[in-house]
Amino acid sequence: MGKPLVIEQVPIPEPTGRQILVKVKAASLCHSDLSIIDGGFGPLPVPLIVGHEAVSVVEKLGPDAAAYGIKVGDVIGTPLWQDMCLQCADCRTAGPQFCPTMQIMGMNTAGYFAEYALVDPATAVVIPPARAERPSALAPVFCAGITVWDALERADLKPGQTVAVVGAGGLGQTAVQYAHGLGANVIALDIRDEQLLACKADNTADEIVNTTGLDPAALVARTKEVNNGRLVDTAIVCSGTVPAYNTALAIVKAEGSVVAVGLPHQPIPVHAAMVSVKAIKYVHTPNSRSWVPTTRELLLIFLHLQDSSAQRFRARWAHRGASTSC
Ligand SMILES: [Zn+2]
Ligand SMILES: [Zn+2]
Repeated sequence: MGKPLVIEQVPIPEPTGRQILVKVKAASLCHSDLSIIDGGFGPLPVPLIVGHEAVSVVEKLGPDAAAYGIKVGDVIGTPLWQDMCLQCADCRTAGPQFCPTMQIMGMNTAGYFAEYALVDPATAVVIPPARAERPSALAPVFCAGITVWDALERADLKPGQTVAVVGAGGLGQTAVQYAHGLGANVIALDIRDEQLLACKADNTADEIVNTTGLDPAALVARTKEVNNGRLVDTAIVCSGTVPAYNTALAIVKAEGSVVAVGLPHQPIPVHAAMVSVKAIKYVHTPNSRSWVPTTRELLLIFLHLQDSSAQRFRARWAHRGASTSC
């Protein structure tokens, strides 16, 4: 950890149990990879092949993999979890990231920055051939996409509500796209104009706010200015900085939600009165609670967004909003 990456020759691994051997078509770099390399997640087993978001082609099935309906030649994506027991209460109810036997690709097992990798078919999503021609565009969906989609799910966003995305880097821009695809009114906030303009350039952010130098009162005033006199229903924090959390707490309405996605290395000092006076809900999002279904939904959303035809999903979301309020 903390040393430069090196390229080495290693044997092609052999799949055992339900494992699948895949040939990597595209693997994308996540901010977590940088933290792993820098030692930000503490000491890990080295040497280690990093990388946990990719699109790959199935090369070989392990002896128990056939039950998962995946064939040699399929193009697949998987979230980063492996080796879940699939039987414990955590697996069945909370999600694979809570299983005591779970391993994380690129962190405590070999990841995707290699020609070949072993993946767990329990979380795999088969990508339709017609959609597989741009694997580099799809790879980030399997970490960044899942993460922000889960944040939107946990926020229980309703059609027509306003969501603020605080931090408009790669993760934040993905959150802005998905929230826009769901029909929400989206405000992107950041201290960098370049990131904000990227959200505006693709017409996914309705409004952008540069928060540089704005104190809580000014943040409230600016938010109301761009949101018809109201604070936001939900603030999703996609920045790993403490000030981003203070921004979120300032601009969210009474009984609104602050969803934590970006994880600062420092503790977040929270003014308890601000949280309690506004009765803010604080929600943490450890990737995805419903994993495979979520990933498949996500893939559908992504494909719809690519087609600029999110109507089908918006209709479903609207139905969900209606049934939730009944
Ligand atoms: Zn990641
Ligand atoms: Zn389990």
